[in-house]
Amino acid sequence: MNLHEYQARALLKAAGIPVPDGDVATSPEEVEGVAKRMGGAVVVKAQVHAGGRGKAGGVKLAKSAGEARVHADKILGMQIKGLIVDKVLVVPAAEIASESYVGVIVDRASQRPVMMVSPAGGVDIEEVAAKTPERIFQASIDPRYGLLPHQATSLAFQLYREPQQVRQAATIMRQLYQAFLDAGASLAEINPLITTPDGSVVALDAKIVIDDNELERREDIARLRDPAAEDPAEVEAREVGLSYIKLDGNVGCCVNGAGLAMATMDLVKYYGGEPANFLDIGGSSNPHKVITALNIITRDPSVKSILFNIFGGITRCDDVANGIVTATANTKLERPIVIRLTGTNESIAVDILKKAGFEALTDMDEAVQQAVKQAREAA
Ligand code: GDP
Ligand code: MN
Repeated sequence: MNLHEYQARALLKAAGIPVPDGDVATSPEEVEGVAKRMGGAVVVKAQVHAGGRGKAGGVKLAKSAGEARVHADKILGMQIKGLIVDKVLVVPAAEIASESYVGVIVDRASQRPVMMVSPAGGVDIEEVAAKTPERIFQASIDPRYGLLPHQATSLAFQLYREPQQVRQAATIMRQLYQAFLDAGASLAEINPLITTPDGSVVALDAKIVIDDNELERREDIARLRDPAAEDPAEVEAREVGLSYIKLDGNVGCCVNGAGLAMATMDLVKYYGGEPANFLDIGGSSNPHKVITALNIITRDPSVKSILFNIFGGITRCDDVANGIVTATANTKLERPIVIRLTGTNESIAVDILKKAGFEALTDMDEAVQQAVKQAREAA
C-alpha cells in the first residue's frame, strides 16, 4: 500500500526527523489561503501515488499566494502516470544548498533491510543506480540490532563533510529506520534530503510503501489508505479478495495461485507475448470471484486475448467453469478466450464449458501459445 507524501511526512516527523510543516488542500482557493497564512514563497505538490512528480509538472514553486493559486489550478485535476490529482500539499519553499538521497528497503537477496544513501539526490535513484552505481552507498541491517551507530555515521560521511551535518544525517537515518519498522514498510525514502544555506539537514520529500501483510496488525496505518488515489480495478479486486496488478502487455491472465500466476506470466513472455496483468483468484473458487476477475480483465482496453490457467486442487475446476459461463451469459466476450484447466473436477468443468460453447485445454504450453498468438493477431 502506498502512502501519500503528506502521510509519509507525518510518520517521519513523528519519528523525530526534521520535516517542514505543510497543509493539504483540494481547491485553488484553499491553496491560496494556506499560502497566505504561511507567507513568502511556497511549493505546491501533487499528492498522487506516483514518483517523478517534479518532472511531470506536479511540483511547483510559487513566490506569492496568488501564484500558488494559479499553480494549484493547473495541478489539481492533472494526470500523472494515469492517476488524477485531487489534493495538493502546500509547504513553505526551502532554500536548497545540496540534495541527497536516503532510503531503506527490504533486500530479498540478503533477507534484510538495507539503508541506501547517495550524494546524487533529488533525481530518480533508479537512474543513479543505472548510470553511476558508484555513487550509491549501502549498509545491510541486522534486524536484531537495527541500524548501528557506526553504520549510520559511515554512510553519513558519504553525504557530508561537516561534522555537524554528518551527525544530523546519521540521526535521521536511525530515525528513518525506526519509522520504517514501526509502519511495517517495505520502503521508506527521503529524496531529497537537503542541506539549507544555514547548514541544517531537512527532509523535503517522503515516500513510504507499506507491506500489505503488515496491515492486519496495524490499524492506524491501514486507515491511511486512500482508495480514491488507487487504480479502481485494483480496489475492486481487493474488495472481493483477488490479487490484481495491472501490467503493460495485452494478454489478460486469470490464474489461481500466485506461483502459477508468475509461471504463467513467464510462459507468456517465453512465447513472445506480454501479460496485461497479474491476477490471482486465490485458493478457493467462489464463482463470484471469477466473475469479478473476468469483468476487470475485459474492462481493460489493452487486453487483446484472455487466458485462464487453472490448476484445480482446493480450487474446483467446475466452479471456475461456472463462473466463466455466468460472467459471459449476458455479455458476449468481444475478445478471444483460451481456457486451460486441470485437476479437481476437470471433466465436469470441460462438460460445462463445452455446453456453453467454449473449448477447454489441459496443456499449459499449448494454451499460452494460443493466447499469445490470438493477442498478436488482434493487435
Ligand atoms: P518528486 O519529483 O515526486 O520526487 O517530488 P520532490 O518533492 O522530490 O520535488 C522534486 C524537486 O523539486 C526536488 O528535488 C527539488 O529540487 C524541488 N523542490 C521541491 N521542494 C522544493 C523547495 O521547497 N524549494 C526548492 N527550491 N526546490 C524544491
Ligand atoms: Mn522526490
